[in-house]
Amino acid sequence: MAQKHAIIIGAGLGGLTAAIKLQEAGHTFELLDRNPKVGGTWYENTYPGVACDVPVALYQLSFAQSINWTRAYPQGPEIQAYAEEIADRYQLRPHMHMNDAAVSAEWDEKSKTWTVKTEGGKTFKGDVLVGALGQLNRPSWPDIEGLESFRGDKMHSARWDHSVSLEGKRVGVVGSAASAVQVIPEVAKIASHLTVFQRTPNWVTPRRDVPITPQEQALMFTEPETAMDLGQRNRQLIYDNADHFFWKVFEWTEAGREAYTTIATNHLNEQVKDPELRKKLTPDYPVGCRRILISDDYFPALERDNVELVTEGVVSVNETGATTSDGMHRDFDVLIFATGFETTGWNWSVDVKGLKGKHLNEEWADHPEAYAGITVADFPNLFILYGPNTNLGHNSITFMLERQVEYMVKALLTLDEKSADAMMPKKSAQDRWNNEIQAQLQKTVWADPACNSWYKTEDGLITQNWSSHTRDYAKAVAEVKADDYELA
Ligand SMILES: Cc1cc2nc3c(=O)[nH]c(=O)nc-3n(C[C@H](O)[C@H](O)[C@H](O)COP(=O)(O)OP(=O)(O)OC[C@H]3O[C@@H](n4cnc5c(N)ncnc54)[C@H](O)[C@@H]3O)c2cc1C
Repeated sequence: MAQKHAIIIGAGLGGLTAAIKLQEAGHTFELLDRNPKVGGTWYENTYPGVACDVPVALYQLSFAQSINWTRAYPQGPEIQAYAEEIADRYQLRPHMHMNDAAVSAEWDEKSKTWTVKTEGGKTFKGDVLVGALGQLNRPSWPDIEGLESFRGDKMHSARWDHSVSLEGKRVGVVGSAASAVQVIPEVAKIASHLTVFQRTPNWVTPRRDVPITPQEQALMFTEPETAMDLGQRNRQLIYDNADHFFWKVFEWTEAGREAYTTIATNHLNEQVKDPELRKKLTPDYPVGCRRILISDDYFPALERDNVELVTEGVVSVNETGATTSDGMHRDFDVLIFATGFETTGWNWSVDVKGLKGKHLNEEWADHPEAYAGITVADFPNLFILYGPNTNLGHNSITFMLERQVEYMVKALLTLDEKSADAMMPKKSAQDRWNNEIQAQLQKTVWADPACNSWYKTEDGLITQNWSSHTRDYAKAVAEVKADDYELA
């Protein structure tokens, strides 16, 4: 086998998986990240309450189980420790270049290599470029008049400022989605008063988190085979439930919607006694349209005496606080923006230049697309992880990352078999792939005209999400169809 040298940009769970599997397949790599530590999402999101929304039995990498989990849905720091643990376990550190952002990557057709340059002035050359930049790490700030004038502390949930104490403070949280429902219960416990600004209510279902007992952890030492077997079966059960049952909600079928509408409505009715509050928290759009949230403590937090839910939008901010559309002004010591991420615009922080002078960000300016979410026409030997149309609302992203990495490793074998140095998908194959998934996406709840979410571009194209069951994705990328590629 011809050994390839890969430059991997991004040391989140995607980049780490790529490094491990490339190494196992006999290739070499350099792993670059602008952060000082590995972990990506879990390094960057340190707000109180940050946690996994997928049971860890399924979220941890299938080939790298850990015995250190203390809960079914672990908190962020535990997942961050896991990322560090696997960087050590697979001896990736000698190949890591941290704290230095990649700024450009250029393909040279003559030498069939990528040259990557970093902010710190370093240059890396490789046969393969792995774009493991993630989808959710460009914090989105709302465009609110006067935001800069606020004299108190303000922060985004994904850039938590741990030097700011919230103890006894008047705090405003803007946002009510995935990060907000995790941070709000924690802030409510310590703030003197908390105002939650909700633009859109979300469908929320129970989390039912449970601790992993020391006895369960010890099973790994006393009966490792049984523990591994149980872990595997548990993982499969959670996966099957997510892929068969949870997926149904995203299909545009009555049955799927009804099941999840009932689960979420019962949860709301059980947890919120105040009919006015319940009304404010009831979405007017179909379940599954936006990310379904998972929380046991969000609704109870909103019923606390020191917490107020405001549904009028924030129209302006001044030195002391925020004013809503009804003209009401509230003063705050701290404003927290749990307003999510820039998603559909992609706009990678690396300028990737392929053939014919093409820049990836320009190609993706309107409608980002790839073949299988992984490779892109005119960008030879570029493999993307968590690329266009590979996000999920019902299952673990790590499942997708593993399938994408396996695909890349197989693609390198294909190069070998065909005695080629470079490959890129034919434009016709890329178009076919995208036409098929866009047609399939039309059958999902996301296509409902009443559905607006970060999954869609302004003109309504769904560029973030995979279109079906994840087992269908696994099947679609199980083999590399050499005929779909131009080889050189
Ligand atoms: C708060 C939060 C909770 C989440 N919870 C879940 C969950 O419960 N289940 C689930 O399946 N998914 C969840 N996700 C999605 C999560 O992003 C994925 O599960 C997974 O962590 C993605 O890994 P990644 O490596 O693809 O991307 P990331 O973790 O985003 O890593 C990308 C890396 O690329 C680096 N990078 C970017 N640009 C450059 C550059 N120019 N130069 C060098 N390095 C660069 C970044 O610094 C980062 O380290 C969550 C996301 C967030 C934000």
